[in-house]
Amino acid sequence: MHKPQLLADVRASLGEGPVWDSRSKSLYWVDIIEKRLFVMQPESDSSQYRTLHFNQSICAVAPKKDGGFIAAAENGFYTLDDAGGELTPVYDPESDRPGNRFNDGKCDPQGRFWAGTMHHEQILGAGALYRLDQDLNCSKMVDGVTISNGLAWSSDSTVLYYIDTPTRQVDAFTFDSSTGELSDRRTVIDFCDEEGFPDGMTIDAEGMLWIAHWGGWQVSRWNPVSGKCLDRIKVPAAQVTSCTFGGTDLKTLYITTAAIGLSEADHREQPHAGGLFAVQMNVRGTDTHPFGAYI
Ligand code: ZN
Repeated sequence: MHKPQLLADVRASLGEGPVWDSRSKSLYWVDIIEKRLFVMQPESDSSQYRTLHFNQSICAVAPKKDGGFIAAAENGFYTLDDAGGELTPVYDPESDRPGNRFNDGKCDPQGRFWAGTMHHEQILGAGALYRLDQDLNCSKMVDGVTISNGLAWSSDSTVLYYIDTPTRQVDAFTFDSSTGELSDRRTVIDFCDEEGFPDGMTIDAEGMLWIAHWGGWQVSRWNPVSGKCLDRIKVPAAQVTSCTFGGTDLKTLYITTAAIGLSEADHREQPHAGGLFAVQMNVRGTDTHPFGAYI
């Protein structure tokens, strides 16, 4: 228990966006910098993974209810057919911001796809968080974001938890599930005394948040009501980027990491940085919400 095992030694520059697809019992994740998308079926063959290469960064994907995926990429939203990895443009909300790319993204329980952006040079406040509705209408929901990350919805669909990494906070919005509108932004978790910066996040079946520590060698479990840390899992890589629950019973936590920027000494200390790790959990996770649930 509680010791992450290396599952795929992909040496990602920026591994990110793990997503469990219950249709095919597959785990998908990306390497944003190297423009790769990985897929594996860890329950049937934990030693094999497939790599798809693209001509732009794929930053986040979510399964589409009618097959394939919706993707947030370097140059906007796309659909992706799973077989050949063919990208079809949907909409680019930031064609006027060429220095930006998408970052983390995920679907809400009603099937809208949410994804945020950041500037390549991490310019303060240059990014935003967008909502892509089931009819492909796109709305800017939060502006002035620096590194958009960490999306999770409460199981009753009344709260969206959100991370803008340099703020070292987890914020909550009141979420209107019927309209997709946000209100009443407030801070629920403070990372100022934590190791590293909050990056990707997921929520478990008990409503607790699991947060990846960029530069902090761990994922940590938090109660977003009390703001207290409940548990920590050490990861053998410093730059921990995101995590998600998967497996048929949703009791495996899959963890992505990054190798970018590490020195030779760092590499000796964390030889599998950039790898995908997995750890068996006592708590169950929540299922991935597909895009377009109401189409
Ligand atoms: Zn991230």
